Amino acid sequence: VEALPRPAATRVIVVANQKGGVGKTTTTVNMAASLALHGLRVLVVDLDPQGNASTALGIDHHAEVPSIYDVLVEGKPLADVVQPVVDVEGLFCVPATIDLAGAEIELVSLVARESRLQRAIAAYEQPLDYILIDCPPSLGLLTVNALVAGQEVLIPIQCEYYALEGLGQLLRNVELVRAHLNQALHVSTILLTMFDARTRLASQVADEVRTHFPEEVLTTAIPRSVRISEAPSYGQTVLTYDPGSAGALSYLEAARELALRAVVAVDAAEGHGSVG
Ligand code: ADP
Ligand code: MG
Repeated sequence: VEALPRPAATRVIVVANQKGGVGKTTTTVNMAASLALHGLRVLVVDLDPQGNASTALGIDHHAEVPSIYDVLVEGKPLADVVQPVVDVEGLFCVPATIDLAGAEIELVSLVARESRLQRAIAAYEQPLDYILIDCPPSLGLLTVNALVAGQEVLIPIQCEYYALEGLGQLLRNVELVRAHLNQALHVSTILLTMFDARTRLASQVADEVRTHFPEEVLTTAIPRSVRISEAPSYGQTVLTYDPGSAGALSYLEAARELALRAVVAVDAAEGHGSVG
């Protein structure tokens, strides 16, 4: 696998969509593994009490494991809860345990309740190229913490009926956080997931999303693939579970697009050269 450019500063990407089952967790872990396999240093922050991203990365997350809960609620340093992912060099994970289900309520009475994750990330000293944050399927304080901590939002959209339903609410929340808490925040990337090229519906949804978000949608769509859905039960991403599969190749390609786009965007902002 070719090397990808290192971003000038750590890119913090929030993977969000308040709908469940659209591919947030699958996208987080597989994009993260793809970036790491390209030679980058990547941290996944599991911010869903279900801990599905932790499971998919083979990270133990029973109730006693030091986790993102300790960071958000107890103020523990991120460095104390980061674990390396076995099998993928350069990939790390902050697990979520079931305690996190209570954090949504516990955070309400804490100081700086919206920016606790942002502060923890700012204080983390290990060099990282990417941080990917896997959000729960809601727009509560956990997701707000992610939106305050990140610069970019990546929205996975499942190519199904009602794909765009509820998206307006997410976009309004991004605007609110941008206006009041985090000027840098923007929706940088939309990824079409579970795409089935054989169905007309999937193509129609894909066209509709591309019409609404011509700049943000990645050219690569992730196909519906049994290998992708099997991998988590082995505590693996599809990149190690079945590296040659169509699903693995699609995530590698999507990660490559994500990494190269930022370089183009930075060049354009600095006034070098043209954007293709
Ligand atoms: P979310 O985190 O948004 O709730 P998940 O990533 O957990 O969504 O995906 C929901 C379900 O769909 C999971 O069972 C997952 O394995 C499956 N899935 C996700 N992406 C694909 C895909 N490209 N092909 C087949 N199954 C997929
Ligand atoms: Mg999930």
